[in-house]
Amino acid sequence: MRLFVVSLGCQMSVADGGELAAPLLARGFRPAAAPEDADAVILNTCTVRQHAEDKALSLIGRLRPWKEERPERVLIVAGCAAERLGEWIRGRFPHVDLVVGAKSIDDYPRLVESALASRFDALRESREAFADGTAAPGDPIGWPSPAVAPLTIMRGCNYSCSYCIVPAVRGRESYRALEAVLAEAREKAAAGAREILLLGQTVNSWRARGPDGIERRFPDLLRAVAAVPGVARVRFESPHPFFLDDALVAAIAETPAAGLHLHLPAQSGSDRLLSRMRRNYTAASFLEKAGRLRAGVPGIEVSTDIIVGFPSETDEDFARTLDLVERLRPAWAYTFKYSPREGTDAAAAPDDVPAAVKEERLARLNAVCDSFAEAALDARIGRTVEVLDENGGYGRTRDGFRARWDGPAQPGRLRTVRVTGKSKRTLRGECT
Ligand code: SAH
Ligand code: SF4
Repeated sequence: MRLFVVSLGCQMSVADGGELAAPLLARGFRPAAAPEDADAVILNTCTVRQHAEDKALSLIGRLRPWKEERPERVLIVAGCAAERLGEWIRGRFPHVDLVVGAKSIDDYPRLVESALASRFDALRESREAFADGTAAPGDPIGWPSPAVAPLTIMRGCNYSCSYCIVPAVRGRESYRALEAVLAEAREKAAAGAREILLLGQTVNSWRARGPDGIERRFPDLLRAVAAVPGVARVRFESPHPFFLDDALVAAIAETPAAGLHLHLPAQSGSDRLLSRMRRNYTAASFLEKAGRLRAGVPGIEVSTDIIVGFPSETDEDFARTLDLVERLRPAWAYTFKYSPREGTDAAAAPDDVPAAVKEERLARLNAVCDSFAEAALDARIGRTVEVLDENGGYGRTRDGFRARWDGPAQPGRLRTVRVTGKSKRTLRGECT
């Protein structure tokens, strides 16, 4: 039995792909190289922007002939678009066997068991064995590197940014207990992971009361995970600026294993729009936080997310966004055209920035962001950097840049690389 997993969207979605695969792997499924070779396909969807959702729906449509060719095959559609459009998907695509929304991931082992039982009777095992199947560290399904292990520490989001569908499809925040997180980190390190990537929608809002009744917060968790034997690096995605406080800055500064990179989504530089977006900061307070971070953690790189064309965005608002980006000097940026998501507050207002204006602003923004990204890469040429070999000659520097190098491939090893050049946003170099 062969399984193929496609995960669209953020790293949490890719990590969820591993969790969705686990019960099938526990039942004896093995990874397939392509859907044509697979008896089961899991399509883990994203809905954060319309484009992501369209892609998911088009993939479901394209799997119809695959299913018709061998009707005993199983197609599972999961994730955020499945949460938003579950009923509609069931009606529109009868070839889908199971639709599991993002909020039902805890219930998923039970759901998938009944979906599989009718088809793969020979593989039935006890429910207990089935339910505890967690993805093997370094699971080849969907996750790109055995040296980097994703570890989901919280799910959901308690914010209500007016443009964002995430709280609707992922629900309120819930946090895993520190002991459970540490147990998983130990297990993953023992299986060969050198880097732990802590994941959550607003990952640094994590907090949990231990058996001693004391509440731990994210900076405590970061320090504790970094202390797990075998863990050489800890990174986290995606932090919310609100929870970037002095305690977190100190934890990053004092934890040698902490990655020297922080993704800090700004979204806009216009206070008027930030307020309409319901981000709980101003451009000035955002920049002030970034400045405190840089002062407290010398050498740390910051990247960001920006949305252009939010309803009512004027030239003046956009100029303020460019100004924020120029002051922030991000090492890289993910830039998006605003995409109205049904049911969000922002979608109640007219999507009134014309498409051509959104396009033009995006191009101008990208030109500025690209110049910073290229400058950051150029500054590294001629230097030596530490890289974690993720996939044999490919990996990331401690401050988050992608790198490729010549020399022996040793996944899981930290290596010193002399940077000789760059191409396609990736440092090039050779092992020293
Ligand atoms: N929790 C993270 C972001 C998660 S969504 C945070 O708050 O920082 C990832 C990114 O998608 C966001 O940072 C935002 O830039 C973008 N995004 C979310 N909803 C969007 C929408 N409706 N249109 C365009 N971009 C959007
Ligand atoms: Fe969406 Fe805002 Fe929550 Fe991030 S913090 S997931 S942008 S609602």
